[in-house]
Amino acid sequence: MSNRTFFVGGNWKCNGTRESIKKLVEELNFATIEKDCEVVVAPPYLYISQVRKTLKDEIQVAAQNSWYNKGGAFTGEISPDMLKDVGVKWVIQGHSERRSIIGESDSMIAKKSQYCLSQGLGVMACIGESLAERDANKTTEVCFNQLSGYLAEVKDWKNVVVAYEPVWAIGTGKVATPQQAQDVHLAIRGWLSDKLSPEIAAATRIIYGGSANASNCHELAKMPDIDGFLVGGAALKGPDFATICGACT
Ligand code: PGA
Repeated sequence: MSNRTFFVGGNWKCNGTRESIKKLVEELNFATIEKDCEVVVAPPYLYISQVRKTLKDEIQVAAQNSWYNKGGAFTGEISPDMLKDVGVKWVIQGHSERRSIIGESDSMIAKKSQYCLSQGLGVMACIGESLAERDANKTTEVCFNQLSGYLAEVKDWKNVVVAYEPVWAIGTGKVATPQQAQDVHLAIRGWLSDKLSPEIAAATRIIYGGSANASNCHELAKMPDIDGFLVGGAALKGPDFATICGACT
C-alpha cells in the first residue's frame, strides 16, 4: 500500500441542466464519501457556482479546462483567476476529447497547465494512447511524448495528478484490464523518476480513466501504481461515484 492519497475525479463533461445537476449534487451530499479519498468533481463551467454553493465541502470542485493567462481580450475563455473566484481548486488539462476534437496541442496544454499551477490550482494532466497506437506497440512512446509536452512548461509537479486515460477505453465500456493499466502506470512512474526524481515519482498520484465504474474499480484499485480514477459516465450517478471513491479501502 502506498502512502499516496487516493484521488477520484468526476468529469461531468458537457452534460447536465440546472435541474439534473441539482439532483446529482443531492445524491453526492447524501452519499458517504470515503474519508481517505481526495474527491473532485468537474461540472461544465456554467454550473460550477451552483455546484460549489450546494455541494458538501468535502468534495472539491474542478474545471474541465481553463485559459493560459490572466484573461482580457480572449473571447469565450475562462481564466484561472475566475475559477479561483468561484471556489475551484483543480483543472483537468489535456483530455483526449480536447486534444482530438478541439485540436489542442501539447504546447497549449502545457502552457495552460503551468499557468494553473502558478496560480495555485491543481492540475489533472491527461495522457493516453489511441487504439491504433496501442496496436502498434506505441503506448509508452505516446504517453512519454505527451508527458514531455507537460515537462516543457511544468516545473513543480507537487500539485499535478497524472491521469492515464487510454482513448480506446473512454466512453466505450472497454475498460483496460488491471494489468494493462498497471503496466502503463508503472512505466509512467519510471518516466517521472528518470525525468524528475525518484521522490517526485513516488509522491505523484497516477490515476486511471476510461470506462471505470462501480463494478470494475475495486480490481483496478488493487494495483500498486493505480492511485485513483478519472471517471466520466459513472460520475453522473451519485451512488456509483461514491462507490468508486470507496475503492481505496
Ligand atoms: P468514461 O470517461 O469514464 O466515460 O470512459 C472518462 C474520461 O473521459 O475522463
